[in-house]
Amino acid sequence: MSSEGIMGEPLPFEERIVPASHSGKVVDPKSYFELHRAAVEDLEGFWGRVAEELEWFRKWDRVLVPGEHPNVYRWFVGGEINVSHLCLDRHVRTWRRNKVAIIWEGEPVDERGQPRERRVLTYFDLWRLVNRIAHALRRLGVSRGERVAIYMPMVPELPAVMLACARLGAVFTVVFSGFTGENLAMRMRDLGARYLITADGFYRRGRVIELKKIADEAIRLYDGIRKVVVVSRLGADVPMTDGRDVFLDDLLAEVPVNAYVEPERMTCDEPLYVLYTSGTTGKPKGIIHDHHGYSVLLHATMKWVFDIRDEDVYFCTADIGWVTGHSYVVFGPLMEGATIVMYEGTPDYPAPDRWWSIVERYGVTILYTTPTAVRMLIRFGDEHVKRHDLSTLRLIHSVGEPINPSAWRWLYEVVGGGRCPVGSTWWQTETGGILISHAPGLALVPLKPGTNGPPLPGIEVDVVDEQGRSLPAGSKGFLVIKRPWPGMLAPPTGMWGDPEGYNRVYWSRFPGVYYTGDYAIRDEDGYIWVAGRADEVLKVAGHRIGTYELESALVAHPSVAESAVVGVPDEVKGEAPVAFVVLKSGHQPSGELKAELMRWIRERYGPIMVPREVVFVRALPKTRSGKIMRRLLRAVLMNAPLGDVTTLEDEATVEEIKTAYEELRRQIR
Ligand code: ATP
Ligand code: MG
Repeated sequence: MSSEGIMGEPLPFEERIVPASHSGKVVDPKSYFELHRAAVEDLEGFWGRVAEELEWFRKWDRVLVPGEHPNVYRWFVGGEINVSHLCLDRHVRTWRRNKVAIIWEGEPVDERGQPRERRVLTYFDLWRLVNRIAHALRRLGVSRGERVAIYMPMVPELPAVMLACARLGAVFTVVFSGFTGENLAMRMRDLGARYLITADGFYRRGRVIELKKIADEAIRLYDGIRKVVVVSRLGADVPMTDGRDVFLDDLLAEVPVNAYVEPERMTCDEPLYVLYTSGTTGKPKGIIHDHHGYSVLLHATMKWVFDIRDEDVYFCTADIGWVTGHSYVVFGPLMEGATIVMYEGTPDYPAPDRWWSIVERYGVTILYTTPTAVRMLIRFGDEHVKRHDLSTLRLIHSVGEPINPSAWRWLYEVVGGGRCPVGSTWWQTETGGILISHAPGLALVPLKPGTNGPPLPGIEVDVVDEQGRSLPAGSKGFLVIKRPWPGMLAPPTGMWGDPEGYNRVYWSRFPGVYYTGDYAIRDEDGYIWVAGRADEVLKVAGHRIGTYELESALVAHPSVAESAVVGVPDEVKGEAPVAFVVLKSGHQPSGELKAELMRWIRERYGPIMVPREVVFVRALPKTRSGKIMRRLLRAVLMNAPLGDVTTLEDEATVEEIKTAYEELRRQIR
């Protein structure tokens, strides 16, 4: 394949894998793209037909109309719908009424390592609970358009509260329960929240996290909260402020068991929720999603990407605090009437086989997880996987970062037993749902380790150069989206309260198209390979290379668990790579290993790409959603300010890296 700036063989463009036992349709990329083109050419007709499959209170008049602000689009104008109705009411009228909606497992285990707590909710149970919570919230004054912050752990009440807010038409923002009070306050302030729903606490890696105390700190920093509703997860005695704080249980005690709250008939201009991005590249952005286009995209992707069926047991390991949890733990699967598994705690508690034991215990058929988790689990060794019967799995996807081909192979072979399609679904908080992915439920094209696959039908993407010109296959460039899609940042302003920011961030780099901020390659089959963030591309002696490509090469070395590469200015080459490396357990840093890793890169990418330094560290700085924050590494190397660190998971990692790097510099001097 012709390729500008690619030396060696970075990514397996030519590999083609079709899992033997995939029962759906398998097609070659050419015929897939025929189907794809037909959808893009009749965009409104195509999405209109998908939307027909949902239940609308009132059908739309127009599929797609420009909104009030530039580049804000209104989808299914004139239509009235409510996602809470789609996820619940629709099912309780059918045989799914008694189908299991949620299997929940708490983190604590007994002496034999067995989970102490399990809760099972049918669709009818969940519908009852959501109606009663909506009833209670309405009594407290929550109504259509009201702003509610939700700061809760992974318990069934979290999806129930989200669905109750949706039912009432209140705009909610879920704040990840691992965030500090300051993080919570910042998001509540930006949204103008007047209600906060939280919990007394929860279990994480065997410890009790006192969530209510952190919530109280946030309320001290932001004084806009009128009422605080507290879910009792631990049954703990927590400080309650008179007149402001109330336990959900006490509220529900006053609500009739059969309370019914009619779902509001939402219009396309009313937000469902606001969610703040992960903050990997800077300050988090408040992204708006609607009931309309968002539901249509989730319905489509649950069918195409997850091939969801009634007999499935679906386990998405994401925390609901992230967009993956919103779209693919809560709204997407419940809309399809699926049975979901929800787990409270960490994958390595009490041992690194917790997820595999969950897959075995409930017969999970579909697994959706992240590369960070996969790399961590690889580090612990295969024996934890092999101890469990994972034969029920039939489909695996990952999301959040590029998946290194070596991590992909591990998922495919060790976890999926070579049977299941394994994909890497590309999307963003902003896109609402998956846009680039294999679609085993529609027509599977052959898999390639590490690729995202082709864009989904109705999604027109391109890879362009600095001037916005479309690039040929094999060239690396910027990933853009050329046509609006349902599920995109929604009215009224795309970004909450900031229509100018919305246009600046997403629509000004290349006028008329949506800029993703990601760097990608399209191969000759039309598959997209997202190679990391556009601002994380190195230009070494005139050659462009995604930091991710060098990282993938390093991770493919038997001693390396994780790696992050950043560029530093270099007088000769313009920019030179510096590699940070975390070793697998059982391997020690040494001069020899460093030399070997440099040789390893030289063999694969030639002498130009050999890192100027290889720095061994214990951990990499990551966001709380598990993404590597390369900008912090660069800041350390450049001795520059760190910038926004509110979403950093563990501040100690940055300090440690500073020390490691200074030590190294002393040695060099
Ligand atoms: P911020 O925008 O605040 O810097 P973020 O971009 O990390 O944070 P998210 O919306 O959670 O916030 O992440 C979306 C980004 O994650 C994508 O733009 C892309 O860089 C990366 N990503 C997600 N899925 C994949 C995937 N399957 N392959 C490659 N990259 C992915
Ligand atoms: Mg982003």
